[in-house]
Amino acid sequence: TESCLAAIDSADALNAFVHKTPELALEQAKAADARIAAGDAPDLCGIPLGIKDLFCTKGVPSQAASNILEGFKPQYESTVSQNLFDAGAVMLGKLNMDEFAMGSSNETSCYGNAVNPWRRGNDDTALTPGGSSGGSASAVAADLCLGATGTDTGGSIRQPAAFTGITGIKPTYGRCSRWGIIAFASSLDQAGPMTKDVRDSAIMLQAMCSHDPKDSTSVDFPVPDFEAALTGDIRGKTIGIPKEYHLDGMPDEIDQLWTRGKEMLADAGAKVVDISLPHTKYALPAYYVIAPAEASSNLARYDGVRYGQRATLAAGDGITEMYEKTRAEGFGHEVQRRVMVGTYVLSAGFYDAYYNRARKVRALIKKDFDDVFAAGVDAILTPATPSAAFGLGEMTEADPVQMYLNDVFTVTVNLAGLPGISVPAGVDKQGLPLGLQLIGKPWEEGDLLNTAYVLE
Ligand code: GLN
Repeated sequence: TESCLAAIDSADALNAFVHKTPELALEQAKAADARIAAGDAPDLCGIPLGIKDLFCTKGVPSQAASNILEGFKPQYESTVSQNLFDAGAVMLGKLNMDEFAMGSSNETSCYGNAVNPWRRGNDDTALTPGGSSGGSASAVAADLCLGATGTDTGGSIRQPAAFTGITGIKPTYGRCSRWGIIAFASSLDQAGPMTKDVRDSAIMLQAMCSHDPKDSTSVDFPVPDFEAALTGDIRGKTIGIPKEYHLDGMPDEIDQLWTRGKEMLADAGAKVVDISLPHTKYALPAYYVIAPAEASSNLARYDGVRYGQRATLAAGDGITEMYEKTRAEGFGHEVQRRVMVGTYVLSAGFYDAYYNRARKVRALIKKDFDDVFAAGVDAILTPATPSAAFGLGEMTEADPVQMYLNDVFTVTVNLAGLPGISVPAGVDKQGLPLGLQLIGKPWEEGDLLNTAYVLE
């Protein structure tokens, strides 16, 4: 813990930690020492972690990287962070992210973006660590902590993991409690670990999962021993390669990486087969209707009365002015865009044309996966991202769709509620890390981690 705290202090330039909690960390580390001395050392005893700013942490600022939550210190602990503490983990501080987890580059954060510790060859251009869990990815990649929590609504664990050469898994929807995680799009949001390798992800995920009556979508299934699943034996497994994930204009390196992944799995005794997920091309548009719709509803609670900030009002201002001014000042541009899109697609006149249609498309996307799993496929291999990390400022606000395209390989997994993992699998010509994604059957995270274990 002490060496992580020192590393964090010397890495302010990465802007990964937005609230440091050294006193708490040292106190938790001391308690962990005592547990070890007493012969009661759970799996994460004394392991220093970073927690994404989206998790409510008791008495510690939890702002979802938004100005509207300035000054908010929750009076309770999220279930996932509490589970980690119960397993002995130590919290080093809160990690940077895109505002309310909306973004793919960490550039929508009210704290300014986190920076990727990697560089393109000798070029000094600062690169994005990805988003929204960009601070988590940057901190793990730069050895500022041994692991970090992330959340993934449309790829926010897997894309930053791929951009920084680390491992990140989004478990099946319902595996981790969402209680105390500041909501973005409730039917898509899931927490997961971001770690240096697959084994660490297995151990950390184990501690994070639990059935929680406080989240009605948390499922009361036994949590298997994920680490014990890491045998490296995938003989007889069938791995599907979906043709729709091959994009025209995708860099050769991504294709080569994908081919190498297929070969590694085949060499380990898996059967690699071509499959089709025909509705894939509708996933991004459906996601960018459903996610903003749910966000517009979830973010209605930030009204200047409850939580955090209220704008300074002028004489004569009424309640409407209070809402307007508070939300205009407190929310950044991307969040405002999502609230407007969401409100529009849910409005009486457009509900059927947009929101309901997107929900139907979502059902078809899920059915595509159900069909290939029913036909005997055990896991699906795809690239995690269509490119390596891009430069900060390279994708500007002028064209938000360009940024949304980053999520082309990841959003399907959230729409279908499936587990997905990104593992570092190679580098591009400039030495930047690239990730492969494996998508698994619901509740089969153990198998998924084991297949990923073969790839790392
Ligand atoms: N980049 C996606 C978005 O902006 C995904 C975000 C996430 O998974 N939290 O919606």
